[in-house]
Amino acid sequence: MTQVRVRFAPSPTGPLHIGGVRTALYNYLFAKKNNGTFILRIEDTDQVRFVEGAEEYIMESLEWCGIKVEEGIREGGKFGPYRQSDRKAIYRQYADLLVEKGDAYFAFDTAEELEKLRSSYEKQGFTFIYNASNRESLNNSISLETSVWKKKIEGGEPYVIRYKMPPGEEISFSDLIRGNIVVNTSTLDDKVLFKSDGMPTYHLANIVDDHLMEISHVIRGEEWLPSLPLHVMIYRSLGWDQPLFAHLPLLLKPDGKGKLSKRDGDKMGFPVFPLYWPYGETAKGYREEGYYPEAFVNMLAFLGWNPGTEQEIFSIDELSESFSMDRVGKSGSRFDPEKAKWFNHQYLQTKTDREIAMEFREILRTHGFNYDIINLEKLVGLVKERVTFVKEIWDQTDFFFKAPATYDPEVVKKRWKEDSGLIISELRSVLEKADDFSPSTTESIVKAWIESKGYNTGAVMNAFRLVIVGASRGPHMFDIINWIGKTETLSRIDKGLSIIGK
Ligand code: GLU
Repeated sequence: MTQVRVRFAPSPTGPLHIGGVRTALYNYLFAKKNNGTFILRIEDTDQVRFVEGAEEYIMESLEWCGIKVEEGIREGGKFGPYRQSDRKAIYRQYADLLVEKGDAYFAFDTAEELEKLRSSYEKQGFTFIYNASNRESLNNSISLETSVWKKKIEGGEPYVIRYKMPPGEEISFSDLIRGNIVVNTSTLDDKVLFKSDGMPTYHLANIVDDHLMEISHVIRGEEWLPSLPLHVMIYRSLGWDQPLFAHLPLLLKPDGKGKLSKRDGDKMGFPVFPLYWPYGETAKGYREEGYYPEAFVNMLAFLGWNPGTEQEIFSIDELSESFSMDRVGKSGSRFDPEKAKWFNHQYLQTKTDREIAMEFREILRTHGFNYDIINLEKLVGLVKERVTFVKEIWDQTDFFFKAPATYDPEVVKKRWKEDSGLIISELRSVLEKADDFSPSTTESIVKAWIESKGYNTGAVMNAFRLVIVGASRGPHMFDIINWIGKTETLSRIDKGLSIIGK
């Protein structure tokens, strides 16, 4: 088999959408699976759409995901440069070669002229397509006398180079995901290959680079499928072997209706970008929302691919071992924000209490508390099963760090009975006598006391929780009092009794 070389070729036009990250991921997994090379090529031929910061954002996103670039603008490589604007000098010769072969031509139509044509076609209920059906009546090197168009060029009149799509040919080609596709060339237009600003368009630059960089497989989003017939034609015109193509299914909105957009994320409160985007209209990112990159990558891998087994948790290395193009679906994959959270929950459970405690310590600092890791490890162990993100640990544990400032009135109404004050005072003396505050000791002392008095365990424990936590939430009571310690426990009981009543 030929050496597998794949590329992820984003345009730096803004933050990288998670659909783009998935394309990068599938390219990377495919490369790893086949001992191939993963290349990052920046496609910035459209200078108007260039956005400052986007290139850095793309590289940082891949890095965060653990997608390692082997050849790229930062890494270098023997097929460089890897940024199209740095390759500007390369493209023109191929546009000229196509003109020489008679497969491309110069066109002088101005934007205004084309706009006029478009609207007059539209008025008559047609769509304007620049191709064999009308090119001879338009302003180009096919319709004009050679001396005329040469003079225009010499005189510095702006022009573009268009591909001369032959009419009435059935071209057939195949896609690794979609199988065989047949298209009649009469439905296609004479796409611009080279612009008047001296830059190639995406179509020309993409093909020239894929060829020169010896790309073996082009794996990209489905939105590029309509361009494939043109690309196949250009490969043929240039006499180059084509790479194999795989067009990945779209990422759909959670309701399955249409392409997943930033607006869906904003509406439903989930990010559609890997990282926070800080420029202009800012956008939320998975990283900043508290997702682990492993969870994010695992979730993305499953949007369009499945391993054919029940296994859902895969590290990036396991993914690359199992990945194959024939398990990538044809139909769009519906994005499920709840499933994304599920993955994060699963990954959080696999972290050690110490790892989580280190992360939580930072969050705790922002709330003004400094604790050592040993104490936090114990705490994390008590609540980690209940949380999806480390940041949620604070909501689950705030009462460990501070005595309740208020007591939930609903709970007071429901749980604080007439005799509760008396019982909790008794409980205070029982606990005061305990030398050992380990959960098992306090639990057995308290249970024995409840039994000897014939109290209702639920009622006592509910009232106890109310004075310690201020509400009816939290882990096992004896774990809580062990963590906060005897002095704090007794002082919270005193505070509770003085506020809720004796
Ligand atoms: N520059 C194109 C994009 O932004 C790449 C398409 C391709 O991979 O051929 O999606």
